Amino acid sequence: MLIKRILTGIRPTGALHLGHYIGALKQWVPLQEEYECFFLIADVQALTTHIDKPELIEKAVREVMLDWIAVGLDPTRDNVNFVLQSRVTDLTELTTYFTMLVPFSDMEKNPTIKEERADLRSRPTAGFMIYPISQAADILLFVPYPFDEKNELLVPVGEDQVPHLEGTNKIARRFNNRYGKVFIECTPKVGEVGRLPGTDGQSKMSKSLGNVIMLKDGPEKVKGSVMKMFTDPEKVRKYDPGHPKDCPVYLYHKAFGDQDTIHSRAARCESGALGCVECKKDLIVSLNEFLGPIRKKRKQAEKAPLGKYLSEGTKKACEIGEKTMEEVRKVMHLDYPSVFTTEGDQVGK
Ligand code: ATP
Ligand code: MG
Repeated sequence: MLIKRILTGIRPTGALHLGHYIGALKQWVPLQEEYECFFLIADVQALTTHIDKPELIEKAVREVMLDWIAVGLDPTRDNVNFVLQSRVTDLTELTTYFTMLVPFSDMEKNPTIKEERADLRSRPTAGFMIYPISQAADILLFVPYPFDEKNELLVPVGEDQVPHLEGTNKIARRFNNRYGKVFIECTPKVGEVGRLPGTDGQSKMSKSLGNVIMLKDGPEKVKGSVMKMFTDPEKVRKYDPGHPKDCPVYLYHKAFGDQDTIHSRAARCESGALGCVECKKDLIVSLNEFLGPIRKKRKQAEKAPLGKYLSEGTKKACEIGEKTMEEVRKVMHLDYPSVFTTEGDQVGK
């Protein structure tokens, strides 16, 4: 039987925001109907930028799980697994082997690394520079076994992650060419709105830029954030013609608002008939309608056995990882059949 599997994840650096929803969670929820899902809480990857904030990461692991359940991920299903990255120790071994397959210059040329590096407050660590390689290990450890091109390893992510997935597939090809077929290539799946801009108009909504609306924000907080939002700078007065495509308020309407009126909204903005204050008030209504059920579910999830979900999902991930690593060690001659000739000889087993 063919295996259809998903591996995707989020770094636990805080609760989640609308950008995470649009770029990631929205795609994940319906995929639970069809795929065996592994949703990774990437606490090791969080260390690449938060090495001095271990308490924050610990707290965020819970926040992420609450947000996941709030938007509709269901860890009580057999096919849905929440996984804690640091507890899947095979990932560390696979990452180490993969680092030998990638020229360091590829890391420096990676457009997402370049962009994120510019936003860092301190010099990038070696761990930060190679995180796309550890991400490749995160994905490929979950390769369906036994090898069959017709199996599927789907990775639903935001648009900024696409270069990393191309890199992941390069690693899979290099590995297979050198050692034999172990890894199928992963398939990226990017949502319709690739990247949600920040409330300040910057190209990406991001916690570190402080331009976010969180999924757990209450109605008053949402109202305050929207009323302060950046709009088209050329539309100064209400009746000035606007440029909806350049306005984050319009893009948020497109992502979260009423799609039946979206074209007339754009036309009314362009003609000057719709002012920014009215447009923002409409957005507040739409966002609160969208967030209402999410807030409610989040409250309920606070009583759920989150630790149990996480340890069960992580255990399943470890079982899959063990199979993959057995294959990897075999084809890389790291199981040393010429040295360890009998079962009892095996070191560390
Ligand atoms: P932040 O920058 O707010 O700390 P992050 O970028 O560190 O968040 P990640 O864990 O790296 O969060 O990303 C998780 C997923 O969410 C990725 O698939 C990423 O593409 C997506 N994502 C994050 N922010 C946005 C955004 N503003 N628009 C679309 N997708 C996003
Ligand atoms: Mg990121």
